[in-house]
Amino acid sequence: MYKNSSEDSILLERQVQPLFENTMLSGLANICAAAILYSLLTEPLLSIFPCLGVVVFSLLRIGVAKHYLKTHRFKLQTYLNAHILLTMMMGIMWGVFEFIQYQVETLEIRNIVLLLNIALIAGSISTLSTYRNTYLAYVIPQSIGIFYLLSLYDTETAIYLQVAFTVFMGFMISSSLNMTRIHKNSVKLIRYNENLISDLNDEIRVRESVQVELEESKVGLENKVKKRTEDLIDTNVHLERVITKKEKAEQSLQYLAYHDELTGLPNRNLLVDRINQSIKISLRDNQQMAILFLDLDRFKNINDSLGHNVGDEVLKEIPIRLYSVLRSHDTISRNGGDEFVVVLEKLKDANEAVYVAKKIIACLAETFNVLSHTIHIGASIGISLYPDDGDTPLVLLRNADTAMYKAKKSGGKQLQFYDESMSHQLRDRLELESELHNALAENEFYMVYQPQVNCITGETTGFESLIRWKNKKLGEINPDRFVPILEETGLIYSVGEWVVAEVIAFVKTINDDKKVFSINLSALQCTRLDFLTFVSEQISMRDVKPSQIEFEITESILIKDFEKTKIFLNELHSMGCSIALDDFGTGYTSMNYLAQLPIDVIKIDKIFIKHIHQTENLKSIVKAIIMMSKSLNINNIFEGVETQNELDVIKEINGSIVQGYYYSKPLEESKVIDWLTP
Ligand code: C2E
Ligand code: CA
Ligand code: CA
Repeated sequence: MYKNSSEDSILLERQVQPLFENTMLSGLANICAAAILYSLLTEPLLSIFPCLGVVVFSLLRIGVAKHYLKTHRFKLQTYLNAHILLTMMMGIMWGVFEFIQYQVETLEIRNIVLLLNIALIAGSISTLSTYRNTYLAYVIPQSIGIFYLLSLYDTETAIYLQVAFTVFMGFMISSSLNMTRIHKNSVKLIRYNENLISDLNDEIRVRESVQVELEESKVGLENKVKKRTEDLIDTNVHLERVITKKEKAEQSLQYLAYHDELTGLPNRNLLVDRINQSIKISLRDNQQMAILFLDLDRFKNINDSLGHNVGDEVLKEIPIRLYSVLRSHDTISRNGGDEFVVVLEKLKDANEAVYVAKKIIACLAETFNVLSHTIHIGASIGISLYPDDGDTPLVLLRNADTAMYKAKKSGGKQLQFYDESMSHQLRDRLELESELHNALAENEFYMVYQPQVNCITGETTGFESLIRWKNKKLGEINPDRFVPILEETGLIYSVGEWVVAEVIAFVKTINDDKKVFSINLSALQCTRLDFLTFVSEQISMRDVKPSQIEFEITESILIKDFEKTKIFLNELHSMGCSIALDDFGTGYTSMNYLAQLPIDVIKIDKIFIKHIHQTENLKSIVKAIIMMSKSLNINNIFEGVETQNELDVIKEINGSIVQGYYYSKPLEESKVIDWLTP
């Protein structure tokens, strides 16, 4: 099958399509016309040839058209040529028909033939004008026949008819050419539109495919972004791991730089840092700090005899023991080998360092059970104090080290201050302490009583009881030295009860219920409710009047725990005992506190008395105290009056009760009885 796809041949195909399609109709019209005319003819036999010709060529032409429409087997031009040829043959047949029938037929028939032919010429214009020359091929042979036929009319009519026919044909042919042109153009236009539509469709398709591609690439892009994001997350996770690893490595490096590997304690580097910080804090808060340099006794022996494993385990155990006896803010560090350093901040005094050092020595003296060995070691401690023994970490450490060396030389399990005088004080104190532990059992305490005298009347109103300690080794010890140790060691509770029992027993023997005996109380005692029970038991046991017993408290007690002390004092007071505020003027008691407590007596401290006759201001102050206490219904006792001058001033300012060497030193029991005997 042949098909020319070039644009021209497509245009031609479109143009001639109606020609072939209408062939059947026009063919049948010609055949019908031939049949009608043939039936009208008077001499049909003559015309049988052209009539048959019309029929045969019409049929052939129909055949060609059908063949083309159905098969397109040959070139279009071949079909066209065949079609035109056959059309022309039909035209010729019609021309011949005209020519023949004119010879034999009547005018009437001739006119019919003429009209029918003109009708065919007019009628076929639309079907044959689609392709150039086809119409001409059909009408020109016919026209010649008709023209000839017309010439046979009488001359005048013939000319007229021929002219008319010529004009008609001219009109028809020009119309046909025009139609051909219009048809061709409209085919072109349609084709153009089709191309346009197809181009548009192509465009749309291209756009659609571009759209699809875009969608696909968008999806692809999204996938890529997703993949990239996942990759990035993976990379991040990896990076984070690397960073964490690096940080950990740095941390462990940092840790190693500042810590001892074996015990995990701060090493010397960190220790120096900490001491520096502590120095700053101590300087700011005006506090003391102590460096305890600690060396294990006989540690070398353990390493040599039991091996380094055992030695290491012992060293690891040390911080555990140390932490158990230290405060959380104290620093422990390992200085290397068997040396440890403890930094104690915020010390009240050197005694606190002694207290901690002793606890350390005690806890390290206990046996170590390490890798199925029972080991005894001890520690020697050297102590340096900030700011007394140095104000830089290195000096403080060096001095503590020196002190430790001395402690070691004196036999192990010892502590030594860098400052020799400190060590002597320490030794003395330690001795006092150990002696005090036995003092009560050894019956070394006794009480003395200092009279309190009304300087106007000369009458003795009462006595202050004061404790004394006579140790067989150390001799007579001042209460200002041993009372604080009693408090620190907790011995004050038992000794305090002994004092109460002793005084009440003595009060009983005096048998003068006008005399008041005062007992000094330590701050610690004022929080113990069992002490109240003890007092009340002693009073009822000895059957003395509670009003004969007075308790002296100092202002420092009130500052510590006001509410608790208030309860304690109210209890004592409700038992019938009186309360005296001792050393008045040396503390910071607010008048407001005084008014809230059951105070019966204020003991004005001896520092007022000492200078009262020389200083007017002091006099005014004491006057004010007397006035204030009177308004609160509180009595006054002036302590430490030693001279006549002092007594005169007291009298001048309306003071009355006086306690001091002027009248008497504290007296032993037998002397009290003498004193009271007129
Ligand atoms: P304190 O309670 O202020 O006792 C008064 C102290 O002043 C006594 O000293 C006394 O002997 C002394 N003294 C009395 N008159 C004069 C004087 O004219 N001139 C001078 N310079 N001193 C005078 P002592 O007996 O040495 O007692 C010292 C401190 O010991 C007492 O001070 C008291 O705080 C404490 N203390 C004494 N006995 C006891 C006690 O049994 N229990 C408690 N907890 N503390 C006691
Ligand atoms: Ca007192
Ligand atoms: Ca006093």
